[in-house]
Amino acid sequence: MERLSLKDVKKNFGSTEVIKSVNLSVDDGEFVVFVGPSGCGKSTLLRMIAGLDHVTDGTIAIDGDDVTGMLPLDRGVAMVFQSYALYPHMNVADNIGFGLRIQGMKKAERDAKVAEAARTLQLEPLLARKPKALSGGQRQRVAIGRAIVKNPKIFLFDEPLSNLDAELRVQMRLEIARLHTELGATMIYVTHDQVEAMTLADKIVVLRDGRVEQVGRPIDLYEDPDNMFVAGFIGSPK
Ligand code: ADP
Ligand code: MG
Repeated sequence: MERLSLKDVKKNFGSTEVIKSVNLSVDDGEFVVFVGPSGCGKSTLLRMIAGLDHVTDGTIAIDGDDVTGMLPLDRGVAMVFQSYALYPHMNVADNIGFGLRIQGMKKAERDAKVAEAARTLQLEPLLARKPKALSGGQRQRVAIGRAIVKNPKIFLFDEPLSNLDAELRVQMRLEIARLHTELGATMIYVTHDQVEAMTLADKIVVLRDGRVEQVGRPIDLYEDPDNMFVAGFIGSPK
């Protein structure tokens, strides 16, 4: 079943065309990775799916509903950022539950959801800690926990691991893969790390200068890239 569809989506900042007609279909439960050079529009695409940037032209649909003009909170998506954006004065439990609190969810229900997310992410011993007393990997887990409690239709990750050291990156990558399987979640994940793209993705979308250059399974892009540009990102040279 199709979870997300982008039809002729365009974005201008002033007179600059940053996204030039992108079409994309994401299935329910699919793990889609966006790769491409810095400035090619990966974050802008994610932000439009999240509703954080306006779409200049085209439509975005989630579960068949046109969400193009919808506010972020009404779309049922959750975004995990590279800078964890945790509230320094709140402990881990309150950080995870914050989005639910502003939605008006009752404390008992909220606590149950936070406890469940903490269990999934192995954060249970850390619920009373403030962010400054956490390691980078633990902070990133809290940021993911904030997304999980919303039970979103789509998880959006914008280079979530790029601030972590190499060892932690590997650990968190496995963690995200486990979550994807465990939750059966639909995930869209931006990275410039080839290993992350190859190991996490069901489908890789290679972006270049605001357009989709090639879409395919990792193995297909690796073995049969359309051109040198794609090969440079994920393929073996043609
Ligand atoms: P990526 O995430 O692939 O590095 P971005 O989506 O952040 O790329 O940016 C794509 C292009 O849009 C870049 O040229 C960037 O400078 C430009 N851009 C992004 N956000 C804005 C903005 N708010 N105003 C003007 N230009 C922007
Ligand atoms: Mg970016």
